[in-house]
Amino acid sequence: MQARYRARAVVNLVNGSTVAGVLVAGAGRARVRTGPDGLLVAGGYRLPVPPAPAFCLGNVLVTRWPDEEFRGNGRLFAHEARHASQYAWCGGLAMLPLYGVAALVSWGLTGDFGSRNVFERQAGLADGGYSAKPLRPALRRGQVRDRAARAALTMEPGSRSLSS
Ligand SMILES: [Zn+2]
Repeated sequence: MQARYRARAVVNLVNGSTVAGVLVAGAGRARVRTGPDGLLVAGGYRLPVPPAPAFCLGNVLVTRWPDEEFRGNGRLFAHEARHASQYAWCGGLAMLPLYGVAALVSWGLTGDFGSRNVFERQAGLADGGYSAKPLRPALRRGQVRDRAARAALTMEPGSRSLSS
């Protein structure tokens, strides 16, 4: 195992997030098995929340899918594994409120909880089944106005006559 993955496993064990993940997996009657890079995979999760097909809590990747099916989806697996690293960087369960704020910011900007969520973007939007959504129309109008103003400021007199 690479040193950084060993460090991640130790940090998430010490900060309690992996223990929380094992408890949540148990509450959802998922079966916890060891995975690659110091991760644990909990397949067959049954509680209705969160509704996602997979989520991460500490070093535990919890999924509604059977274990093998989840491991076979390399992109989703890698996405959830990146969230495990985020838990380590955030000091464990402090990631949950931070993630909540990031999700709300994303929703405010786009109407989607993942699209502008810094955690989801860093973990790979497409790998996690998210897509980049445009800004809400009211925000887009402002952006267009800003861009036009910036362009007007940087434009030289010569180029302005060429473009008009
Ligand atoms: Zn994600």
